[in-house]
Amino acid sequence: MSKIVEEVTAANADYASGFGDKGKLAMPPRRRFAILTCMDARLDPAKFAGLAEGDAHVIRNAGGRASDDAIRSLIISYKLLGTREWFVIHHTDCGMETFTDEVMRDLLRHSLRTAELKEGKWVDLGINEGRPDGDFIDWLTISNQEESVLADVRHIRMHALVPQDIPIYGYVYNVRSGKLMEVAKATEVGRPQVVKAA
Ligand SMILES: [Zn+2]
Repeated sequence: MSKIVEEVTAANADYASGFGDKGKLAMPPRRRFAILTCMDARLDPAKFAGLAEGDAHVIRNAGGRASDDAIRSLIISYKLLGTREWFVIHHTDCGMETFTDEVMRDLLRHSLRTAELKEGKWVDLGINEGRPDGDFIDWLTISNQEESVLADVRHIRMHALVPQDIPIYGYVYNVRSGKLMEVAKATEVGRPQVVKAA
């Protein structure tokens, strides 16, 4: 067994031993909200947003981008599991700022091995064993965090299957301080579009 598998299974045994009443939690998130954020290992939404098991949905991908699949999850989150407020949270020092579609496509055409970031430039270590399939993927890279939050909140807001009455809040998480900073423009774009009749 790999060292990581050993560590994970040991940690799980420890966790399960104190599981207690958590086995009785209902499927719908108790606090009725969802967070879309980056997969970055430094981000722990349960800690930075104060979540316990059963509280909220956390949807993660590279960049915390509003990809088709992220929107699929958000729509399920609302339509079937009752969330009523959504957060889009990108962060400082995101890996998605370190490359462009062209860079990623070139690296993959060159090889499938792990590349290295040297002096701000991605360098491929493999030789002539790559594939061109990356040309067909929009890698959803980021050049400015506030702009990417705004673009994603706007994209979710405009989606035909996203309900008009759900507020969508935009934030940037600072990996140096652990603080969430609101992107006011994004939250403004994400405000509910329908005021319910009295
Ligand atoms: Zn990131």
